[in-house]
Amino acid sequence: MNSIKEIYKIGRGPSSSHTMGPERACLYMLEKYRAANCFEVTLYGSLAKTGYGHRTDYAITQTFGELPCRITRDSVTRDIAHPNTMDISAIRDGVLLGRERIYSVGGGDIRVEGEKERQGEREIYPHSHFTDIADYCSENGLSLAQYVYRFEGEEIKKHLADVWTQMKLTVRAGLAAEGVLPGGLNVKRRAKQLAKAGQRERNLVKKENFYICAYAYAACEENANGERMVTAPTCGASGVLPAVLYYEKQQFGVEKKEIIDALAVAGLFGQVIKTNASVSGAEAGCQAEVGSACSMAAAALSALHGLTVSQTECAAEVAMEHFLGLTCDPVGGLVQIPCIERNAVAALRAYNAASLSEVVYDNRKVSFDLVIDTMYATGRDLSACYRETADGGLAKLYVKNFD
Ligand code: SF4
Repeated sequence: MNSIKEIYKIGRGPSSSHTMGPERACLYMLEKYRAANCFEVTLYGSLAKTGYGHRTDYAITQTFGELPCRITRDSVTRDIAHPNTMDISAIRDGVLLGRERIYSVGGGDIRVEGEKERQGEREIYPHSHFTDIADYCSENGLSLAQYVYRFEGEEIKKHLADVWTQMKLTVRAGLAAEGVLPGGLNVKRRAKQLAKAGQRERNLVKKENFYICAYAYAACEENANGERMVTAPTCGASGVLPAVLYYEKQQFGVEKKEIIDALAVAGLFGQVIKTNASVSGAEAGCQAEVGSACSMAAAALSALHGLTVSQTECAAEVAMEHFLGLTCDPVGGLVQIPCIERNAVAALRAYNAASLSEVVYDNRKVSFDLVIDTMYATGRDLSACYRETADGGLAKLYVKNFD
């Protein structure tokens, strides 16, 4: 299994598979075909369907800079190996230098057809299923955070510290901002208002909910505005983990070291999901994005609250289990409706899962590995219209109702 760095990438929103992935693909082409003075890009599948709303074109043209680039959308071809597929041709003075088929596989990662491994991708963990990780921890007397440090090395802590710094900056910027998000849906920013509701509220449960939601909204609204943020594990699901960590920091003053350990544990669960299933909404629906983020957040909370490996596994499993079947149906192809609200609800659910697991973990019947296999199988059964194409569900009915 690869490094958890793949799960946490710092970059610009609003979509890891539609902006960060294409950006990396263009950088790959620029590096491989240095003599090229023109590029042609054809987008297929979800990139063709929702690329405009997700600002794929902007990411591509920005990356190629002054070099001319023609972008074509092909939403008719279905014979593609991955729903986020692009062909990029490198041209010099009208002569084709080379063409690559590149898949944006989620979380900002790419895979080039014919290439076995992308640079930077290397297996550093000897295990990829949670059962094996738990057994190893038990045999060696390790916590899950210690397991991560044993295989990643101490330097991963520096990366996680940078991740935490950016998460805090993103949440704070979102809490301070007002106005309407770009894209034409007239979605107003609500983070500041939710935080104010939290300040006023006297009912402690409601107060807690307002704050957690405010932090999730803040991160997601920054993402939707194309600002700097951290994938966790994707841009669309980037509000869940920061929301719970920021709340724990604000409410209980948890130390940076504890947050870094929690990020390590959350990243481990995210990477198990990515390795054995998917974190891409275009591949397996929103269960793969927000469901995975909820699992990661529940695992992070378990680490912060001192739960055992078994309790932590249970929390991550419960968090995912109740997102099974969740479709990806972003209205207008934008990462706003239902995405932002969905992150807030998932952050609350992460608390539910972590609390529940503390008691019920010893009699559970479903393992984390099983729920992940189930999520992936369910995702593959989902009709394409529910996998980030904006052709079905809320995206379709919203258009019908309001056009
Ligand atoms: S509905 Fe979920 S998977 Fe789809 S774009 Fe929004 S957050 Fe991502």
